[in-house]
Amino acid sequence: MHFAELDLDKSLLNSIDKLGFEKPTSIQQLAIPAAMEGRDILASSPTGTGKTAAFLLGAMQYLIDFPRKNPGFARVLIMTPTRELAYQIHDQAVALANQSHLKIGVVTGGINYGTHKEIFEKNNDILIATPGRLMDYLEGENFHAEDVEVLILDEADRMLDMGFRKEMLRICDEAKNRKQCFLFSATLEGDSVELFADRILKDPALLEATPSRKEKGKIHQWVHLADSRNHKVKLLTNILKSEDVTKAIVFVKTRERLEQLVGELYSQEIKTTWLRGEMKQDKRLSALRSFESGRTNVLIATDVAARGIDVADISHVINFDMPRTADVYVHRIGRTGRAGKKGTAISFIEAHEVEMLAKVERYTEQKLKRRVIEGLEPKHKEAKLPAKKKKDPVKMKAKKKAKKKAKKK
Ligand code: AMP
Repeated sequence: MHFAELDLDKSLLNSIDKLGFEKPTSIQQLAIPAAMEGRDILASSPTGTGKTAAFLLGAMQYLIDFPRKNPGFARVLIMTPTRELAYQIHDQAVALANQSHLKIGVVTGGINYGTHKEIFEKNNDILIATPGRLMDYLEGENFHAEDVEVLILDEADRMLDMGFRKEMLRICDEAKNRKQCFLFSATLEGDSVELFADRILKDPALLEATPSRKEKGKIHQWVHLADSRNHKVKLLTNILKSEDVTKAIVFVKTRERLEQLVGELYSQEIKTTWLRGEMKQDKRLSALRSFESGRTNVLIATDVAARGIDVADISHVINFDMPRTADVYVHRIGRTGRAGKKGTAISFIEAHEVEMLAKVERYTEQKLKRRVIEGLEPKHKEAKLPAKKKKDPVKMKAKKKAKKKAKKK
């Protein structure tokens, strides 16, 4: 299918063309027609499937088909869990609205209240907001949601997980004149999303996009065994200098290790941007912008600081340190290989990380390929996993007995 078959306005098709999107992704093929039919939408579509453009194009087409009659507040409200997501949606909305007259605003926490004033005074068509700050404006009566015609809840499962249920329900109540509501969630499994959707959506189109293999992209995964931290630094420097790294995220486990690594790479003339916890919002945003725009192509981050980052075109994810759990590994590497592109994930493994590597391999049901770099070969062989303790049959019997006894009581 081509975008032209979706009956979108010419201005939107031109912007899509400029962005270089050739074909609609599966969620876009499903969601855009459903939105244009005027339906509510319940969609399961994780990040990386093109979900942002799916709901934005649906909403923008609505605004173009039914132009504003009276001045007022935003007609499309998008609620999203994190600041980074809010800014990413904003950037994509601005790019898509480039050829139209649609006005777009964004409000998030971490920014001076005064800065947002103009967003409410002017006639914004689309407003993107994080829940906390939006509540503040509703409470202060700086913003009214009665003008909202299309309400979009992005990453609803994550907002619920983060404890924003009350805020989400409040917005749904306040946006009582809405004509449509779209709820996007990475997954629809779990009671909380289902119950929530039941409560706020009217006869929604249920869309479950299963991205084609092509859309999923391919992530090549490698492991480099390392003798020490110092060895890891050498491997990293070599890879960042020699491979076709266009954009890389390097994960480290602590702030201290992050600071040390930034300094070490700097002395090797590798310019980096970094994100660590408890960073001021303006610094965080400028670091992200610098990485997104390609001014610096290496971002060093801890897991906590990297939460919510969704930068396109990441060529390499490098685990300088392994994460604490296997699902975090999958989450980390999922940042590359987006929208059908190839990606590379590289993990450095010291002896104490061999156990975590085994967990990752079990979890992802694959053995990761070991690779060496000439001149930087590890001196030590791969550490053996500690043998599992054998259970003592006598002790086991006693334990079983005790359990039975406790049950009887
Ligand atoms: P999302 O799932 O919204 O986070 O999108 C993931 C990435 O895919 C973003 O960088 C988008 O710019 C990109 N993208 C969205 N739609 C398309 C498309 N139809 N073709 C190619 N890339 C796309």
